[in-house]
Amino acid sequence: MIAVAEEIGNMIIVMQSHAGPEHIRSVVQRIEEMGYRSNVSEGEETTIIGVIGHSSPDQLASLEFMPGVDRMVPVTKPYKLGSRDFRPKSTVVQVGDARFGGEALVMIAGPCSVESDHQLWEAARAVKASGAQVLRGGAFKPRSSPYSFQGLGKPALEMLDQVGDELGLQVITEVLTPDDVDLVASYADILQVGARNMQNFTLLQEVGRSGHPVLLKRGMSATLEELLMSAEYILANGNDNVILCERGIRTFEDSTRFTLDISAIPVLKHLTHLPVIVDPSHATGKWAFVPAVAKAGVAAGADGLIIEVHPRPEEALSDGPQSLKLERFAQLMIELKPLALAVGRSL
Ligand code: PEP
Ligand code: MN
Repeated sequence: MIAVAEEIGNMIIVMQSHAGPEHIRSVVQRIEEMGYRSNVSEGEETTIIGVIGHSSPDQLASLEFMPGVDRMVPVTKPYKLGSRDFRPKSTVVQVGDARFGGEALVMIAGPCSVESDHQLWEAARAVKASGAQVLRGGAFKPRSSPYSFQGLGKPALEMLDQVGDELGLQVITEVLTPDDVDLVASYADILQVGARNMQNFTLLQEVGRSGHPVLLKRGMSATLEELLMSAEYILANGNDNVILCERGIRTFEDSTRFTLDISAIPVLKHLTHLPVIVDPSHATGKWAFVPAVAKAGVAAGADGLIIEVHPRPEEALSDGPQSLKLERFAQLMIELKPLALAVGRSL
């Protein structure tokens, strides 16, 4: 396993389409004899071999003449494992029946925070009935104010686990610190790394080592390249199950909580093979704008959505103003279906 992204080399080797396993083996062997490691990515038509380690282009030049090698491509981007150059085919992250990056959109829904058993059951039953596959609910909350509700912690993890099991929903919840990764991973199907933690590199390394599916949210002031470098920390620690999330960035505009960067979706789909979803709840901060922005995300090519839903938003302990009521979420799911079809997806 690779410790840090910086160790990844700057060359990828594209094999000829007719190259056989013996050609691939010899190239890998040669790379290893030179003191590097290799990462083989087998596509439908060609195999691509990444050279891992601080590589010198001169030393690697001889590989170009080996049987089965088509060409060597220097990687100029600061991230490699996440780039489409390295893996042209889109990655599908499978979590139970949910396939992020597949043809069908994946819908994640549920409350911002787990507040009580009753609240979670009500929300979970309703989102399941409307067609969501994944239940969200915060147990450890990253709040801007230390006086705000911080989440119920471990009891909330237990509730999520139980409700998810009984209803056949996958569950996602945020992990705030490296020390909590094992605990959260023992209850949740997907670990959420929040916007405020996108550059918490020790946390990224730890969720990478866990091998558990990760939803990585874009930091509110992060460029897409920075988001992809953060994803690289997870990938470089041996975890390919990374889903990216555009959740709005800080701009001068203050009529919404953040500004959804709609072009982030096609740009990310171009730069990376990883699935990309949209969070219209945190992006807008107001429930009335959530449906339109959710639809915009799907139209722009998102692989799914994460939406805050609460049985009684006016009583919510966090993010009530941006939470959809149960029936509004049900209605949105109905409205999203024809839109999904129009962009070649299903729901
Ligand atoms: C959340 O999903 O409740 C959350 C805190 O999101 P973000 O990290 O995008 O602000
Ligand atoms: Mn929230």
